[in-house]
Amino acid sequence: MKWSQTFIPTLREVPSDAVIASHRLMFRSGMIRKLANGLFAYLPLGLRSFRKLERIIREEMDATGSQEIKPPVLVPGEIWKESGRWEAMGDELLRVKNRLGGDFVVSPTAEEAFTAILRDELSSYRQLPLSLYQINTKYRDEIRPRYGVMRGREFIMKDAYSYHTDDESLDKTYQDMGRAYRRVFARCGLAVIPVRADSGAMGGSGSEEFMVESEIGDNTLILCRGSEGQPGCDYAANVEKAGCKADPPRPVEEAKAAAASTPAIEAIDTPSVKTIEELCRFLQTDAKSFIKTLIYKALNVEADLSNAPGGANLDRKPVPEAFFAVAIRGDLDVNELKLAAALKASEVMLAADTDVLRLTGAPVGFAGPVGLTGLPVLADWTVTAMNNAVTGALTKDLHYKHVAYGRDFGAWLVADVRTVKTGDRCPVCGGELYEKKGNELGHIFKLGYKYTRTMNLSYLDENGKSQIPTMGSYGIGLDRTLASVIEAHHDEAGIVWPITVAPWQVIIVPVKYNGLVKETAGRIAAALEEAGVEVLLDDRDERPGVKFNDADLIGIPYRLVVGEKNLAGDTPKVELKRRVEKESRLAPVDTVAGELAAMVRRDLAEYR
Ligand code: ATP
Ligand code: MG
Repeated sequence: MKWSQTFIPTLREVPSDAVIASHRLMFRSGMIRKLANGLFAYLPLGLRSFRKLERIIREEMDATGSQEIKPPVLVPGEIWKESGRWEAMGDELLRVKNRLGGDFVVSPTAEEAFTAILRDELSSYRQLPLSLYQINTKYRDEIRPRYGVMRGREFIMKDAYSYHTDDESLDKTYQDMGRAYRRVFARCGLAVIPVRADSGAMGGSGSEEFMVESEIGDNTLILCRGSEGQPGCDYAANVEKAGCKADPPRPVEEAKAAAASTPAIEAIDTPSVKTIEELCRFLQTDAKSFIKTLIYKALNVEADLSNAPGGANLDRKPVPEAFFAVAIRGDLDVNELKLAAALKASEVMLAADTDVLRLTGAPVGFAGPVGLTGLPVLADWTVTAMNNAVTGALTKDLHYKHVAYGRDFGAWLVADVRTVKTGDRCPVCGGELYEKKGNELGHIFKLGYKYTRTMNLSYLDENGKSQIPTMGSYGIGLDRTLASVIEAHHDEAGIVWPITVAPWQVIIVPVKYNGLVKETAGRIAAALEEAGVEVLLDDRDERPGVKFNDADLIGIPYRLVVGEKNLAGDTPKVELKRRVEKESRLAPVDTVAGELAAMVRRDLAEYR
């Protein structure tokens, strides 16, 4: 392919919103252009790499036995109403009406569509297990699209859905998908960290996220570093779900006994001191001796509230809305997912300032568990070990000191609700945990019966009895994966493509495109193409410096420079350089194509 005949609009400048390397480089190299916020066009260069990634994913999906189909992107709103996600998905779901007033959804994911397609076809257990996938456009009305195609509004996802008669079969496909994902990422040069994840709004049990480490990552990963003399284990979890080895909660009687030598509780004036930091300075102590008390609102609470103080409406189950005081050691944060799980609530959120005032009688910053009668108190495990603490005194500008759990207050519920952080101990091996930022590239879920039941998918088992299949779903974002490859493979000069997803494998740069140079460049290009190598020939009438910069920028793995000087003499030569290396070497014109083709084949084989 000749450069002059393809559309590669390289640029020196970058748009001001391009703050990460991949966004800058995809833009500068002419891979993509922005049409609107979160909406990008792939130009020829970008599309070539995109297609290669797509091919890798397709090969690995096919190898699992999953079959590709092509459903529409626009799907009836009706099926989303059936699953309940028409409401539950919120504003990320793009709902549209057609001219007849019918409701439609621009697919953000396709559990509903695949289940609806199967509903009319599935009749017998003999058809199961069945695994289907698509590589297709998705739309999510993200509040804040950013980092280029990393978080766009329209993107391409490979999503697979599998249906099974039993958990064992689902588990097998789930494991196969996990292995296929590891291969996909390895084949495009990405080191991924598979982490146990929370399956959040998707429901079901069992899920794994495939993360790449990234400074701009949206996720916090908790990993194990081990301890002295012992290497870290492979524990890896999303902070939303991470656990840690913690001292079990202390029973009330024991806590009371431990407080025997603690002086009696005492009120102290703390004028205009509100935050824990201010309080630490004021009392010259550290956050670990505080009990932080946060007021939470919880929705659809299924926990047993029959012995809870306060005005929860107990006639209905789940209780639609209830408030709780959550007490936790001052240096820790509440993990809202753990809290929601402890309360068996669909969602928890910090209460509004006005609710705090109404429920505790004091403005935000002065809540505490002592004497709090109107609200159920949930104590984190850590609080049960505190027998000489400082806490808010339910009055403005007043705190208590010498507060002891078991003696001065109790809890309606004791639960582990802390957010794990650096320095906590690994729940598996006891080593030290640390944090890393990461981006999610793929996600595999065991969904169970969530969609198949609500959408009435069924089959007849061996005995002719109607059964509901169990289901899994498996997604990889192609755009984000490609951007992540660039994040992991670039330098100051540009992209450094792994050969598997490079738009071309070799770029030939004639110093001046005429005469013998032109003829030789053309001959080598033809020989390479004959050998199955993808070649971009930079035939532009540009200064050599411009062409070299562009070659580095677009990141082609091998560069051949054809110049008059090296062609003179008995053995005409060209300059051969790998993009990953600084140094070039001379190779004879007659043998270079064969040599290079072998190198390309060997490189490709390394990713297999
Ligand atoms: P995130 O937490 O980043 O929003 P998600 O949990 O919403 O991700 P999934 O629903 O699991 O993502 O989607 C599967 C994959 O689709 C993700 O792993 C990611 O690669 C890709 N993806 C999701 N949202 C976007 C987006 N806005 N832009 C590009 N890719 C996306
Ligand atoms: Mg999302």
